[in-house]
Parts: sequence; structure tokens; C-alpha cells
Amino acid sequence: MTVPAARKADADVIVVGAGPAGSATAFYLARAGLDVLVLEKTRFPREKVCGDGLTPRAVKQLLNMGVDVDTPGWVRNKGLRVVGGGLRFELDWPRLERFPDFGLVRTRQDFDQILAAHAVKAGARLMEGVTVTGPVLDDRSGHVTGVTTKDGTVHRARLVVAADGNSTRLALGMGLHKREDRPMGVAVRTYFESPRHDDDYLETWLELWDEETLLPGYGWVFGVGDGTANVGLGLLNTSAHFGNIDYRELLKRWCRAMPAEWGFTEDNMTAPIRGAALPMAFNRQPHYTRGLVLVGDSGGAINPFNGEGIAYAMETGEIAAEVIARALSPRTTAAQRERALRDYPRVLKDAYGGYFTLGRVFVEAIGKPGVMSFATRHGLPHPRLMRFALKLLGNLTDRRGDASDTIINALSKVAPRA
Ligand SMILES: Cc1cc2nc3c(=O)[nH]c(=O)nc-3n(C[C@H](O)[C@H](O)[C@H](O)COP(=O)(O)OP(=O)(O)OC[C@H]3O[C@@H](n4cnc5c(N)ncnc54)[C@H](O)[C@@H]3O)c2cc1C
Repeated sequence: MTVPAARKADADVIVVGAGPAGSATAFYLARAGLDVLVLEKTRFPREKVCGDGLTPRAVKQLLNMGVDVDTPGWVRNKGLRVVGGGLRFELDWPRLERFPDFGLVRTRQDFDQILAAHAVKAGARLMEGVTVTGPVLDDRSGHVTGVTTKDGTVHRARLVVAADGNSTRLALGMGLHKREDRPMGVAVRTYFESPRHDDDYLETWLELWDEETLLPGYGWVFGVGDGTANVGLGLLNTSAHFGNIDYRELLKRWCRAMPAEWGFTEDNMTAPIRGAALPMAFNRQPHYTRGLVLVGDSGGAINPFNGEGIAYAMETGEIAAEVIARALSPRTTAAQRERALRDYPRVLKDAYGGYFTLGRVFVEAIGKPGVMSFATRHGLPHPRLMRFALKLLGNLTDRRGDASDTIINALSKVAPRA
């Protein structure tokens, strides 16, 4: 929709979507003193398809926002249990200065609501049950000046943030389509009533077989602590088999092969199998164009190494908020504001570009026939190598850490920006 730019804005910034990216953005913007309006199409509490697993990277973001993770409902874990190649072993989260040494599990049923409540407490205004249908453009500059909603309302702001997830109607409305040269994943999950509901480790299974082929991806069992376990699997599109797999059937088959006492049967299923795409390695760019800022899944911020998205959604939200607060400061001119916002894609590339490029190389490699089974056979028996892999795949290093931190940081620095 193109309209004249006469009417006064309803907020400094409109954030579309109250997932982890939107709520983190709104929280930091509100704390910086800006008037923020968050528009969310669902109403909390609500389901969001996810594995519900939080690494120390995500925990750090929660602690930064002041979320009290010592209250009931947060299930702590010490690290990762890896199952594959006939082995089963536990890797504790690394002890680092920059990150806590524990992870968490919490279902998205109320996780997103908790973050949204923190944004509101910081001063953001949240409207639930409001579906945004597209951007409103200034007829002269072509810049976004607001959004339209399903009921025909127009909300105006000085700036709009697309935190509307992988489907990102808003970014699509600005002509930002996904890049085909970036990896994409698909993940499916369900919940079972199971004795596996309680676990000190996030469990990942590296062997997903489609008949004779070992697929690039992994299965997981994450205990939710309420009598149920989140059980699912994620696959990458770098394998030739990607388009021909029935993911739900694969999950059912995988669950049938699990120990009977875990109870991964249809009778114990407490939710249908649901799936969604995992947009990775900045598969939508640029992250700023004509008054629209992209955060989280809308900008394809999922880590290609491990499919983790919540930490990156929150981190990109925080970075975007910093850039926006600077750009909208009363002392900046219109030209300075635009320059500051155009710098946001570079800031993101500096922070993640090299690491995501390494991730792209990794997922290309494990998509090739034989590479995944070779890596599982030869890598898993070496504890030191696996501790290195945990740091690399989880993006968990210190700036001045040990030798493995130095190698990972140096590789991320020299790799071309994604
Ligand atoms: C099966 C599966 C398992 C996963 N497991 C994990 C995991 O264990 N750990 C992890 O870190 N990551 C995991 N991920 C990835 C993670 O879920 C995402 O990366 C994360 O949710 C991204 O957050 P976001 O805020 O960018 O987007 P979302 O969480 O998708 O939030 C987008 C929000 O925008 C709202 N919205 C969308 N369109 C509109 C509109 N038009 N108007 C208004 N509101 C709108 C939505 O309702 C939603 O609330 C998994 C993903 C899948 C599919």
C-alpha cells in the first residue's frame, strides 16, 4: 500500500511478531527509551513448533534480559549426550567466561509469552491477535512508514522491524526473497509422555537412516520435565534425498526403533507431529532496506551447524535495537539516520558472517554421500575432537580462550562473510 506521509506516527518503532527476535528487539528498544508497538498475530499462550532446547548461548540472552531461570518450569541441562556409531557419551558444556555453563529446556507454549512480558515490563506496547498484512510505503521515497493489518487498520512508525519468522510476509512485501545459495533445513517434532521427561543432558542422535542412506541431520530427545519429552528430527537440504523424504514418517520410524521402555508410541503422543523450515546462514538479505529491519528467522539467522535459532533471534534483536536507538536519536539528521541503518547488515556480517560461511561448508560436506558416515565412524571415538566439535557447532568460544577457541575464532575471522 502506498500512502502520503502526512499522519503522525503511532510509535517510534513497530515490531511485527512477538517470537524471541521480536520480544528481544522490543525489550532493548523500550529500555533505550523508544516508544515501541509490537503486533503479534496469535494470542499467548500459544504453540510454536520447536525443539525447545536452549544452549548456553540462549541462556546468556535470557539472563541479559533479566529472565529468572531459577523459577519452576525451566529444566537445566549440563551438556549434550551424543548417540551414534555404536557409541553413547556425554559432553558437558564448555566452561567459558562469556557464557554460562548450563543449558535449559522450556516449551514455546509459554517461553515466548515470558519474553513478551519482559518487553512489556520494559515499556513496549503489545497488541495480540493482530495480523500484519503488508508494509505501508511513502509514495515519494518508497520507504516503509507503517503496516496494514487484517482488519484494515494502518499503524504508522518511524521504523518497522520484521520479526515475523520464516514466512516473513513483511520482508516478502518489500521484495526480499530467500537466497537459494543458502542451506535450508526442515525439522519435525512431537511430544511423548515418557520416563525420558527428566534428563540432565540434551540428547542428540547422529544417525538418521533412510533405508541405506545416512541423512545429514540429527534426531533429538529433550526432556521437558513435566512428564513429557520433546522428540524430533531435523534434516538439511544439502542431501540429494531432501525433497523426497516424508519427514513425519521418518520420525515415526525412528521412534519405533527406540527402546520400548521410553514409550515413544502413538498412544503416548500428547501432540501431533508438526514441522517447519529452518532458514539458515542469512538466507534473506539485506537485513535493512528502506525503513525495514530484519531480525531472527525473517533474516535467516539460524546457525547452519546445529539448527539453533532462538539465541540468534535474540542476539540479532539486541544488535538491531542498538543500531535503531542510535539512528533514531534526536540529534541525528535524516541522512545520518539512514547511514546508521544501512550499516546494520555490515554489523551482522561482522558478527556472524565468517562463522555462518564455515557452517555452509560443513553442511555442504555432510550432504555428500559417505561423508556423514565417515565423520560419525571416525570422529565420535575421539573425545578431544568431540569437545572441539561441541564448541564449533555450538558457537561457544571465549575471545581469549584455549587453543580450540583460538582456532575457531581465527577460522571465523578469515572465512568470507556469509
Ligand atoms: C521443529 C523445529 C525445532 C526447532 N528447535 C529449536 C531448538 O531446539 N532450539 C533453538 O534454538 N531453535 C530451534 N528451532 C528454531 C527456532 O524455533 C527459530 O529459529 C526461532 O523461533 C526464531 O525466532 P523468531 O522470533 O525469529 O521467529 P518466530 O519464533 O517464528 O516468531 C515469529 C512471530 O511472528 C508472528 N507473526 C508471523 N507473521 C505475522 C504477521 N503477519 N503479523 C503479526 N505477527 C506475525 C508469529 O506468530 C510469531 O509469534 C527449531 C525450529 C523448528 C521448526
